[in-house]
Amino acid sequence: MNEEREVAYFSMEMALESGMPTYSGGLGVLAGDTIRAAADLRVPMVAVTLVHRKGYFYQRLDASGWQREESVEWVVEDFLKELPERASVTVEGRTVHLRSWKYEVTGVGGFPVPVYFLDADLPENSEWDRTLTHFLYGGDRHYRLCQEVILGIGGLRMLRALGYESIGRFHMNEGHSSLLGLELLDEETRKAGGKSITRVEIEAVRRKCIFTTHTPVPAGQDQFPLDLVNRVLGRREVYEMKDVFCCEDLLNMTYLALNLSHYVNGVAERHGEVSRLMFARYNIDAITNGVHAVTWTSGPFQELYDRYMPGWRQDNFSLRYALSIPRQEVWKAHMRAKKALIQYVNRETNVGMDVDVLTLGFARRAATYKRADLLFTDIERLKSISMKAGAFQVIYAGKAHPQDESGKELIKRIFERKESLKKVMKIAYLENYDLELGKMMTSGVDVWLNTPQPPLEASGTSGMKAALNGVPSLSVLDGWWIEGHIAGVTGWSIGEDGRGMAESRDSSQDATSLYDKLEQVMIPIFYQDRNRFIDVMVHSIALNGSFFNTHRMIQQYVLKAYF
Ligand SMILES: *Cc1c(COP(=O)(O)O)cnc(C)c1O
Repeated sequence: MNEEREVAYFSMEMALESGMPTYSGGLGVLAGDTIRAAADLRVPMVAVTLVHRKGYFYQRLDASGWQREESVEWVVEDFLKELPERASVTVEGRTVHLRSWKYEVTGVGGFPVPVYFLDADLPENSEWDRTLTHFLYGGDRHYRLCQEVILGIGGLRMLRALGYESIGRFHMNEGHSSLLGLELLDEETRKAGGKSITRVEIEAVRRKCIFTTHTPVPAGQDQFPLDLVNRVLGRREVYEMKDVFCCEDLLNMTYLALNLSHYVNGVAERHGEVSRLMFARYNIDAITNGVHAVTWTSGPFQELYDRYMPGWRQDNFSLRYALSIPRQEVWKAHMRAKKALIQYVNRETNVGMDVDVLTLGFARRAATYKRADLLFTDIERLKSISMKAGAFQVIYAGKAHPQDESGKELIKRIFERKESLKKVMKIAYLENYDLELGKMMTSGVDVWLNTPQPPLEASGTSGMKAALNGVPSLSVLDGWWIEGHIAGVTGWSIGEDGRGMAESRDSSQDATSLYDKLEQVMIPIFYQDRNRFIDVMVHSIALNGSFFNTHRMIQQYVLKAYF
C-alpha cells in the first residue's frame, strides 16, 4: 500500500488547519497548500513534519500593543491518528525514540496524501528529549539542531518503518531538513557495502534530492557551530568532507542542501536571481509560489465560481474565465465577504468600521523588513489624504517571533499610531493572526497592502490569496508581485522596481509613492469610478488567481524537479 509513493516532502512547519498550531507563517502555509494541490492532482507524495505539541504560540496584545506569548494547548488526538510504528535517532549519544501521527489530506477527486507528524514525547525518552517536538522555532541553537536531527534523519527512518521503500525523490522545503541528506548517504553506503561515503554515494543522493530555498534573510538560514554538531551528532569524520558538509567551522544547512540536491529553486523569478547571486557556484532555478485556490477562496466567491466556472476546483486554470462574470455579481460577492470581516473587526476591537469605506489590509509576520509601519512615515500627509481625498481604514494583524524585540516594537508603534490617529481614521490590529483570520482578511478588505524591503520578500503569498477573492494588491515590486503586477489592471505598485539591495533603498521614497497612489489613484477610483475598480478586481482573479496557485506550482515541480 505504501509502495506506490514516489515523492517525500519534508518541512519543519505545516499549516493544515487553524486548530493545529504547527506553523508560524508563509513557509508552513506553502507546505500545507502544496500537499493539498498534490492530493488534488494525484501526485504520489507523502509529507513529514514535527508535531509541535505546544505549537508556535498564541499571541496576546496588551492595551499598549506589547505582545505576550502563550503556548497553545491543543489536543493532538483530536486531529491526528497515532501509528504503532517506531523509529529512533541518536542525539548526544542517547537514543531518542519517535512515533508518528498521521493526517490525511484528501484531494478534490478523493486521492489521499498522508502527512506524518513526528513526536518524541514518549515515556521511554528522557524528560528533555521529550520536549524536542514541543516548540516550533523555540529554544536555542542546540534545541533547533536536535529538532533538525529528528526531522531529517528521524523523518526518513520513520518513512522506512512505515514501509515506504520506493520513494525516488526527496523534497526539502527549506534547509531545516537537510540532515535527511546524511541519512540518505548512510543508506547508500550501507547498500554498497562500503565503510565510508564516496563520490558514488554523493551522486546517488543528489539524484534523489530537491531543495527549495525560501529566504535571502540570513536569520532564515540555519548554521550550527561544528563543536555543537559534533556534540549532538558525533560523526566527526563526516563533517571533514568539507565540500559537502561545511565551510570553515560551521555546518550551514543551506549549503548542505545545495550540495546534495540535483535540482534547486527559489520561490519567485526575482528570488531565483537573488539566490544565484548569493550562491554563485550553484545552478538555481525558480518556481514561483502559489496558494491552494479552494482553501483561500471565501464562501461567497466559491459560490460565484461554482456558478460561472464549474470545474475551477479541479482545474484552477479555469479561473481565467472570471472575465465573463457579470461585474455586479463580483461586487455583491465581495460585499458579503467584506461585511463578514468588518463585523468581526468591530466585535473584536469596537473600532466602529464602516463597510462602505475603502478598507486596506496588511497581515504578515511582524518582521522589520516587511515595514508594517511604512504607512505612518508622514503623519501629516496621511491625515491630509484621509480628510481631503477620501476616507480609508486599515486592518492589521501579525505575530512577532518571541525573540524578535524589534518586531514587537513594530506592533507597539502601530498601536500608538492607531490611538493618535483615532479622530482621523480607523485602524485595527487584530490578535493572533492564523489561517482563519488570514482568509477572512485577504477576502474581506478592498485592497491588500504589502511594503517589504526589496529584495527580502522571497515571494509572499498573502497577496495571491487576496487575488483569488478579487482583492487587488498595492505593493512594493518584490517577490511574486514583480510577476503579478500590471499597473491599473491587476493592482498598483509602490515605488519603482529597484534591483538594488535592501540597504540602498530609501523608505521615505516608498512612503511618498504609497501616499501618491492612495491619494491620486486608488481613492478616486474606488469612490468615483466603481466600475473601473471592479475591472481591476476581475483581472486579479482572471490573470493572477488562475496562475499564482499551487495547482500550477506543483505541476512545475513535477515537470522540472520530480520526474
Ligand atoms: C498566507 C499567510 C502567511 C504568508 O503571507 P506573506 O504574504 O507571505 O507574508 C503567513 N501567515 C499566515 C497565517 C498566512 O495565512
